[in-house]
Amino acid sequence: MVDKKALLVKYIAERDKRLRADGNDQYLRLEGQLSHYLDDPYTPVAPREPKTDHVTFAFVGGGFAGLVTGARLVEAGVKDVRILEKGGDFGGTWYWNRYPGAQCDTASMIYMPLLEETGHMPSEKYAHAPEILEQCQRIGRQYGLYDNALFHTEVESLTWQEAEHRWLIRTNRGDAFTASFIGLGTGPLHVPKLPGIPGIGDFKGHAFHTSRWDYDYTGGDPKGALMEKLADKRVAIIGTGATSVQAVPHLSRACGKLYVVQRTPSSVDVRANAPIDPDWFKSIAEPGWQKRWLENFTANQAGGAADEDLVQDGWTDLSRRIRSKISDLPPERRTPMDMLAAYEDSDFEKMEEIRSRVDSIVSDRETAQKLKAWYRQLCKRPCFHDAYLQSFNSPSTVLVDTDGQGVEKITEKGFVVAGVEYEVDCIIYASGFEVGTPFEQRAGFDLAGRGGRRLSEAWAEGMKTLHGIHAHGFPNAFLVQPTQGANLISNIPHNLTESGATIAAIVREALDRGAQEVEVTAEAQAAWVDLLLTGMGRMLGSPDCTPGYYNNEGQDPGPAARLNVGYPHGASAFFTYIQGWRSSGAFEGLAFR
Ligand code: NDP
Repeated sequence: MVDKKALLVKYIAERDKRLRADGNDQYLRLEGQLSHYLDDPYTPVAPREPKTDHVTFAFVGGGFAGLVTGARLVEAGVKDVRILEKGGDFGGTWYWNRYPGAQCDTASMIYMPLLEETGHMPSEKYAHAPEILEQCQRIGRQYGLYDNALFHTEVESLTWQEAEHRWLIRTNRGDAFTASFIGLGTGPLHVPKLPGIPGIGDFKGHAFHTSRWDYDYTGGDPKGALMEKLADKRVAIIGTGATSVQAVPHLSRACGKLYVVQRTPSSVDVRANAPIDPDWFKSIAEPGWQKRWLENFTANQAGGAADEDLVQDGWTDLSRRIRSKISDLPPERRTPMDMLAAYEDSDFEKMEEIRSRVDSIVSDRETAQKLKAWYRQLCKRPCFHDAYLQSFNSPSTVLVDTDGQGVEKITEKGFVVAGVEYEVDCIIYASGFEVGTPFEQRAGFDLAGRGGRRLSEAWAEGMKTLHGIHAHGFPNAFLVQPTQGANLISNIPHNLTESGATIAAIVREALDRGAQEVEVTAEAQAAWVDLLLTGMGRMLGSPDCTPGYYNNEGQDPGPAARLNVGYPHGASAFFTYIQGWRSSGAFEGLAFR
């Protein structure tokens, strides 16, 4: 029997230990002396002439958002789509994150976009990064998106030219070209950050961020070959989030000595990865299969109608448990309060299971105790892995737990925790990405719309859109991201593919009508925002949670954050709604001129 009261006290004590007044400011931006951390270790930058031409559609970001939108536009007959990407190829997250062990953690069948269109069968239930990157390249090739793409190119400004009804795009490569339409898919987690640990610049050994893995230094490769050059090295990995959980087993196997430096433990549940059987795949891959799988997962996750669970994994199990606890309540007790209490019960049980899993795997009692997560499962990104905890049974792998305080200091020779200096040859920062900083800071540009009005001004009191795609005052511009749409966070690609299809339908309509502009009306946008505010509010980001990027590092995110919500009737209902909206041909709320 779970002692709820005692657990709550423990959760609060663990959170309080970690709260810091500096919130997001505890992290360092990779600029100035630290900018070399951003260098691309994978592809040399090729010289090219600046572009000064015109295209129908320019898309900022060559990750899943740009690829699926580009593909749908090409299918809709828009051939000159130009994708601008700061990396040296398509892939976005999967271009940069090539650390050993990187793999998707929602099932490949629903995570990898356009599987049906490209005819690719994922090799595993959770595919590894090289296969996902290849899928991105496959989409790029199949839809001819390479022909017009600009890699190693960062957008510096996007300016609406009123008289010409088009956008002017300037980049760090000297480009100054125009586009009739623009799309923005820069992703939520694309700017790496470092912890602001005193002395971080003093270290004389080797150091890199996990999203810029230095295989020249470590040996091995992204496919998981042994990093043989680490055999005689002492290595520290700082951070124990989702990235570290995947990389540690590979480092543990390779390093002479590995220090895993922990501030907050992740919850690590069973992964149960397995190869996909081609015969089984053939049997299910009927036309429309991926849409069916996507919709089934979302329904299981986000309260739609699902009489089966096709994916069957830790994510759907999580939702199933919550639902079953709630449906166990007698009808007269299905009040919001009782339902939240039932959700809490299911969470306590799950987390107890995850904590006892640590005891059953990690032999050293003290280490096991320190690896236990004391917070609700959705306070931080839930992790799933079948080799992470096992790594701590290797004599060469040492957990350095900082009791919630983080690394005290970096020195010329290593790092200091609780007054003890650990000398190392290499420090790997698994310290994550900027979240919660202003959009324009992360994107590197601030749209200048009608009358020169900036997007940051239009959104000064919070994001305002129709469907999370259109912003009034910014004609012919489309956002590709989940907020104010389905807001489905467990399988982001579902949001992106739906946005891509919606945008392609709108652009096709504008071209067919001979319209030079398409823009959401002020009234339609206001009505959508009002509708969003009738919902339950933000589901993630409770201040009771241990600090992290889900809850703005425990700081009040301010009143603007109340608009970071989704369709009040849930993700499944949103997808049904948006499919109807775009196929009706009315495009209600948009003005075509
Ligand atoms: P995170 O932001 O999740 O983790 C950063 C880590 O660095 C945390 O453990 C943090 O501790 C630690 N840290 C920060 N400052 C210090 C300090 N001063 N001293 C010691 N430790 C410190 O980054 P990740 O790259 O792991 O993951 C980011 C996100 O990317 C994930 O949440 C997930 O959404 C996505 N991701 C998805 C994957 C997938 O789907 N396959 C795989 C990897 C990442 P603390 O927790 O205390 O802040």
